[in-house]
Amino acid sequence: MGGIDIPETIIKAEGVLKVYETEELKVNALNSISLELQAGEMVSVVGPSGCGKTTLLNCLSGLDSVNAGTIKIAGEDISKMDDTRKSAYRARSIGFVFQFYNLLPVLNAQENVELPLLLARVKPEEARKRALAVLEQVGLADWRCHMPSELSGGQRQRVTIARALVNKPAIVFADEPTGDLDSKTSREIMDLLLDLNRCEGTTFMIVTHDNELADRTRRKIFMKDGMIVEDKRNQDYDFTCPAAFSDARLAQKDFVSRKKA
Ligand code: ADP
Ligand code: MG
Repeated sequence: MGGIDIPETIIKAEGVLKVYETEELKVNALNSISLELQAGEMVSVVGPSGCGKTTLLNCLSGLDSVNAGTIKIAGEDISKMDDTRKSAYRARSIGFVFQFYNLLPVLNAQENVELPLLLARVKPEEARKRALAVLEQVGLADWRCHMPSELSGGQRQRVTIARALVNKPAIVFADEPTGDLDSKTSREIMDLLLDLNRCEGTTFMIVTHDNELADRTRRKIFMKDGMIVEDKRNQDYDFTCPAAFSDARLAQKDFVSRKKA
């Protein structure tokens, strides 16, 4: 196509509705959400507490089902996947980073990062090698034998980021990844996520209530009452593409075409 790089759509949501119903009340947590995410994008999602940010991530990642609308990942409708396929898809294609680390306290940093690989039946030796490589990438190689309780909050969050990335997922969902950190450490974690996006081409969707952090992403989605009220792109964004980026883009395209096949 004349050498023009056409972005690949990783996620496409259309008319998504999510209702939580309890005996006393009914909450429209997501109210007609439509959105598209391209491979390599970094998007922040902001909005007041209770506006549906976590619900959005849970639905887009297939952790939670929707009441209406469709969510397609690389062209495939997740509501039509059976549970086995959905779990396999989550294990291979999605990385998660939560506010409170969710590290296993009895495993050291490296073992925590190896775990998703071992669950995906990667050989132990290979798992060790890959875990070490990502730990190095997040600046924690020297801390690999430490237990989570021996690490600072920022270091623990680096371990969870390494764990989310070790499978080379097509997309990483992060829900308030800096919510439990002081502002200096938050900025450092955001620096790391931005570097990984720019240098590795990893697609990120990051929920935060910190506007200063959200302003550093190229695209910012504002939510209110279960709806997207604004979808803003930062035109002045400094988007340099180091050489490594194209490799990662190729890997993502490969993922997309495998899904289509
Ligand atoms: P945010 O992450 O933006 O703070 P959430 O997505 O957690 O918001 O919640 C959106 C709305 O859905 C809120 O009104 C919340 O109370 C409601 N909600 C979330 N999860 C549940 C649930 N499991 N059961 C009932 N209501 C829920
Ligand atoms: Mg939330």
